[in-house]
Amino acid sequence: MTDELPHLEGAVCPVPLAHNEQIVMGHGSGGKMSHDLIRKMFLAAFDNSILRTGDDAAPIHIEASRLAVSTDSHVVAPLFFPGGDIGKLAVCGTVNDVAMLGARPLYLTAGFILEEGLPFETLRRVIESMQAAAKEAGVQIVAGDTKVVEKGKADGLYINTTGIGEILPNVHIGGAQAKAGDAVILSGPIGDHGIAVLGARGELGFTSDIRSDVAPLNHLIAAMLEASPNIHVLRDPTRGGLATTLNEIAAQSGMTILLDEQAIPVRPAVSAACEMLGFDPLYVANEGKLVAMVAKEDAERVLSAMRTTRCGEEAVLIGEVTAGPQSRVLLRTAIGTTRVVDMLAGEMLPRIC
Ligand code: MG
Repeated sequence: MTDELPHLEGAVCPVPLAHNEQIVMGHGSGGKMSHDLIRKMFLAAFDNSILRTGDDAAPIHIEASRLAVSTDSHVVAPLFFPGGDIGKLAVCGTVNDVAMLGARPLYLTAGFILEEGLPFETLRRVIESMQAAAKEAGVQIVAGDTKVVEKGKADGLYINTTGIGEILPNVHIGGAQAKAGDAVILSGPIGDHGIAVLGARGELGFTSDIRSDVAPLNHLIAAMLEASPNIHVLRDPTRGGLATTLNEIAAQSGMTILLDEQAIPVRPAVSAACEMLGFDPLYVANEGKLVAMVAKEDAERVLSAMRTTRCGEEAVLIGEVTAGPQSRVLLRTAIGTTRVVDMLAGEMLPRIC
C-alpha cells in the first residue's frame, strides 16, 4: 500500500474489481491490477489519513521516547475457524505482543502473501475481519504489501503484521522482572484456540462448540495498569501454551514459579478433547489470554480490575513466584504431589496461528 500508490481517488469506495473473481498472478505485478486490488480491497477497508498519503513509507507521529515493536507471521490452516480467522489472528496476535510490554499499541503494518486462485470473497472476509479487530483494538493499519505466488505455493494466504506501540512512562514490564512473592494471575480458561482450530480441521473426531479465544488484550492490560503500578510481567501464552510461557519467564527471571493445578481453569469441552487426544491443556495455544506476575499486595485489586473487562471476566490467581533454587515451573497437583512442568519439547499442534 505505501509502496505503490500514485492515485488514490475513490479509495473508500468498495467497487467490485473488474477482473476475475479470484487472485491471478497479475495482481502481484505491481502494475494496474495490483493498484486496483490495493485500492478496492485493502484501502477500502483500512482507510485512514496515514495510509491515504500513498508514499513509500507511512509518516507516523509518536510522542513517547520508548517504543514497543513486534512482528509475527500467520499461516493458520484453515483460514476460518470457530471464533476467528487468519485476519483477526494477524491483528490480535501483534497487538497483544506489543501490549505485553505495557505499551499502548498504535499502528500496524500488514504484509500479504496471496496464492493464485484465492477467491476475492475469501480475501474480502479476511480484510473485513482485520478491520473489525483493528477497530476493537484501537489501532490503525498504516502500511502494507501484497505479493502473489503460484497456485500450490501457499495455502490461500499468509499474513505478516508488525505493530508499534508507545510504552507509557514508569512502566517496566518484562519476563526478567518476576519477583519472589509475586502472585501469578491468568486471565481465563486455557486451550480454547488450539482445540478450536483442530476442530475446524476435523481432527477432533467429534463435533464440539469450542471457539477460539482470539481477542485484542490491550484494553484488559490498560485496566490492569490503571489498577496497579506493580505489574512486573505480562505475557500471552500462545504457541507452546501456558507451560512454555511460564518456563520462559522462569528462565528470564531466575525464579521458580509454583502453580496450583486445581486453580488453572480449563473448559470442560477443552478438557475432554485434550483427554481424548492425549494433550495436556498446559501446552495448548491461546490467542486471547495473558498471564501476569503482580506484587502480592496488589493481586486482588488487579484481579477485580481484570474482571470488569470482557477479556478478563474469568481471571484467576493460579500460583506464586518463589526464589530459586532453580529457575523452573512446579505444579502442585490435585492429589497433593508436586511435579516439574517443562517447556513444550516439539511441535504438538502445527499451523494453529
Ligand atoms: Mg506473545
